[in-house]
This record gives sequence, C-alpha cells and structure tokens, in this order.
Amino acid sequence: MHTKYVFITGGVVSGLGKGITAASLGRLLKNRGYKVTIQKFDPYINVDPGTVNPHEHGEVFVTDDGAETDLDLGHYERFIDENLSKNSSITTGRIYSEVIEKERRGDYLGKTVQVIPHITNQIKEKIHKFDETDIDVVITEIGGTVGDIESLPFLEAIRQVGIEENDEDVIYIHVTLLPYISGSNELKSKPTQHSVKELQSLGIKPDILVCRADGPIADSMKEKMALFCNVKKQNIIENKTITNLYEAPLMLEREGLARVVCEKFHLENIEPKNEEWEKLIDRIKNLEDKNVNIAIVGKYVELEDSYLSVIESLKHGGFANNTKVHIELVDCEKVTKDTAKEILGKYNGILVPGGFGNRGIEGKIETVRYARENDIPFLGICLGMQMAVIEFARNVLKLEDVNSAELDENCKNPVIHIMETQKSVSKKGGTMRLGAYPCKIKENTLAHKIYKTDLISERHRHRYEYNNSYKEILEKNGLICSGTSPDGTLVEIVEIPSKKFFIAGQFHPEFKSRPDRPAPLFAEFVKSIISKD
Ligand code: GLN
Repeated sequence: MHTKYVFITGGVVSGLGKGITAASLGRLLKNRGYKVTIQKFDPYINVDPGTVNPHEHGEVFVTDDGAETDLDLGHYERFIDENLSKNSSITTGRIYSEVIEKERRGDYLGKTVQVIPHITNQIKEKIHKFDETDIDVVITEIGGTVGDIESLPFLEAIRQVGIEENDEDVIYIHVTLLPYISGSNELKSKPTQHSVKELQSLGIKPDILVCRADGPIADSMKEKMALFCNVKKQNIIENKTITNLYEAPLMLEREGLARVVCEKFHLENIEPKNEEWEKLIDRIKNLEDKNVNIAIVGKYVELEDSYLSVIESLKHGGFANNTKVHIELVDCEKVTKDTAKEILGKYNGILVPGGFGNRGIEGKIETVRYARENDIPFLGICLGMQMAVIEFARNVLKLEDVNSAELDENCKNPVIHIMETQKSVSKKGGTMRLGAYPCKIKENTLAHKIYKTDLISERHRHRYEYNNSYKEILEKNGLICSGTSPDGTLVEIVEIPSKKFFIAGQFHPEFKSRPDRPAPLFAEFVKSIISKD
C-alpha cells in the first residue's frame, strides 16, 4: 500500500488538543488494523527541546533511541502504544542545522540555498522517512498556530506534498476553536472561518475540521461552517472539552473522524477493535477513591506539563489498582526541616522527580528525609534518586559535606559524581546519557518484586551517577543497590528494604507507562499506599 499522510494544523489559539487529536486518530486507525506512526514538527529554532526549560514547553520526553522530544510524543506513545524515534520530533532548528551542514559539505553544488526548495525539501525528507517501512499512515502534527511566521516553511512543505502525491493519499485536518459567548449563549464560528481562510491563502484546503467547543455543535452551525469554510458538513468533527483525555479516541470515533479519514484515503473502514479501550474508559469512570494522596515535590510547579508523564503514570498506577489518585505539585523550595511536616503531612505517598541545577535542592533532600523517617511510600526518579543517596549519606551515615558534584563540585563527599563518559562533554544539547539502557535486577529485592524479572530496559536522561566509592558503606547501613547496568558498574536502582516502600531509579520509568499497561514502579507505588500492611 502507498503510504498515506495526514497533516494536522491548528487554528485560532494554541492548546486546543492537536496532539490529542493526532494521538486519538492514530489509535482509531491502529484499532482498524492499520500500521500508524506520528511525528511532530515544532517551529522553534532550538535543535531539540532538550535545552528548553520545562516552564516554557513542559517536560522533555525521551524516546528509546535517545531523542529529547516535545511532550506531545508522550501522548502519542501512550495512545498508540508504539515506540517512536528521533524521526518523530523535528524542529526548525534541526531542519536548518541539517541544511547548513549540507551546504558546508558542498552538497548543493554552488546553488543559492533558499527556504524553497532547500528547507522545504529537508522537511519533506522527514515526512517521507517512513515511505520504505511497513507504516500505512503517517500522521504529522504541525506545532503552533496557522498565521505564525515560524511555521510557514512547514505549511509550505505539506502543501507541496499535497500536489506531489495522489489526492487519496493526503488529508489535511485543521483543529480549531468555536468560542462560547455567554451573553448570547452561542458558539461562534467566525474565528474558524478566518483561520481556514488563512490556511487557504497558503494553498492548503482542509479536508476535515476538528472543532473544539465547550458544548455540542448544532447541525445548523455545521451547515454554516461547511458553506463558509469550504469543507463537507460530515467532515466537521465535534471535539468537546473532556476531563479524561483518554476518552478522546472514543469521542472522536462517535463523531466519525476515523471513518471520514478512511473514506478520503479509499481505505476499508474495517470494524475497529475498540473494546479494550472502551473497557479501559469504563474502568476509569468507575474508579473507587482509596485515599491515595501523592505529592510530587519539584521546582517546576507553576506548569503541570513539566511533570506530564509522571502525572499520567501515577494515574495509570491508579487505574491498575482501581483507585483515583490525588496528585499535587509541591514547591520544593518551601520544604525545610521545620516546614516538612506541615507541608508534606497530608500526603501518603511522596515522589521526587527528575531535575537539574541547584534551585530547591535542599528542599528535595528534606523531602526525602521526611519520607524516610516517617516511612511514607517514596519513589525517586533520576535527580530524585540522587537526592535519596545524598540524604542517606548525610543523615544516616552522618558524613560531612555530602552533595552531588553537579551541585557542589568541591564538596568533600560527592556521593553522586559526573559519569566518566560525560567528563569530556562541553556542549549542552543532546549530550547526556540518553535513551533506553538495560538494567540488571538483583533477586530478593523490592525492585525484583516490582518488575518480576532479572533484566529490564528503561529510558535515561542524565550526566551524573551514583559514586561507587560509597557503595559498600551505603549498603552496609541499609541503602541497597538493587539494580545496576549489566556489567555492574552503574547503579540504576536503590532501595531501603527496612522501609515499607522506598525505592528510586536513575532512569525515567514514566516514559514507558501506558494507560492500560502501567509502568510497574508506579503501579506498585500506588499499591503500597493503599496496602494496610
Ligand atoms: N541533573 C541530574 C543529572 O544530570 C539528574 C537528571 C534528571 O533528573 N533527569 O544526572
């Protein structure tokens, strides 16, 4: 079968759920038996989002192959349950740097290098990356909103794909907003009309409009939009605001999104196998409330998206244990020895997530101390694991001047130190230890009880590691290394067996969690909070 291309653009405002639309369509096509992949084009100039502060765009999602990507890739993976790669997250910066590299190499043979055709060709190369694979449908989301200067080359590239390929192989979906005006109690279509006009002025005629609205879209409204936006009425899809994102595929299925996509593609609209997803949604709707109250103690608390995958993974852990999970972001900078009880006392689970740099570090260490001393289920992730080691060395071993070399290069006891392979690294972008690495798990440990296997693979994103010079004394005093790299040199998991549930990993288990297949660490963390023994 010839590869089919779906392009998803956004209009009116950002944050309408383009990513969720892409991910949901992917799931619906997959449930029809088609092989799907999703990619995201981000118009900013950073070569990848790895160098962007989470406050700006939310978390950096990491793929198996070690790409630092936009958080929408997390949505894609959670919805379509396929592992994506560096081909699925492309920024303007990456496109330009590749073109400039070719120019420096002399590949353009004396030509003047221009946005059209050189930049647009480079973009198209990414779209066609999956042509020789077994992928049936490539869904490409264009970040930003139509009308932005930055996204123009991407829109031009997808316009070109539309004329180069057969009509039945390309679909343009435009995701827009129908704002609700309370005074007159109605939804308004004018912003959508303007946005479609803008898109058409760039040579792209949308086949499908996915319209976000806080209430149902009346038939008469759809008729009007069909007329003014030059889109078939049945191709105007209602995208109602929902509280549970995982319901989106079923909602869009009812609205006929996948059916109209199949029609335009001349693909058989195979009866979708949605039962498993329906069961999942049913389960989520009927979750009990077993009083699971978890604090995520970090420094990026103004933006929940900074911890998106961690939050979703905790929810998945709840689904597996048939309970709602109440999650709050707690500002680590506020936690001190004196305030810890007051701030953390109301939670029965504490998670310290990943992070970088000095701000809030002491609060994270005090948080670990509070969890350990009061035997509150604790899960540490990456920096959270490093904090657990520092806390133990300071407060149990009573060593002096303990820190991570990242935070105090000259401390006397760097229980966390820079990895050997990182010592020569000077550039910041894309140079950490990234992606999936195997981890060997010791028998008769909590880690083994959780993973139920001797060898796992988890995704990483760090420069610093557990300092093996302290291993003997840490283990002797009760902080056990239960997971290491297969050669035993790099400590991947630590735990305190004398505690109810105290475990921390150097990796990020949140990147592999799925709503119907939770990451084991999260499922067991939630379970330990519920369990009375
Ligand atoms: N800053 C720490 C390191 O580089 C932890 C990184 C993280 O939490 N992702 O090792």
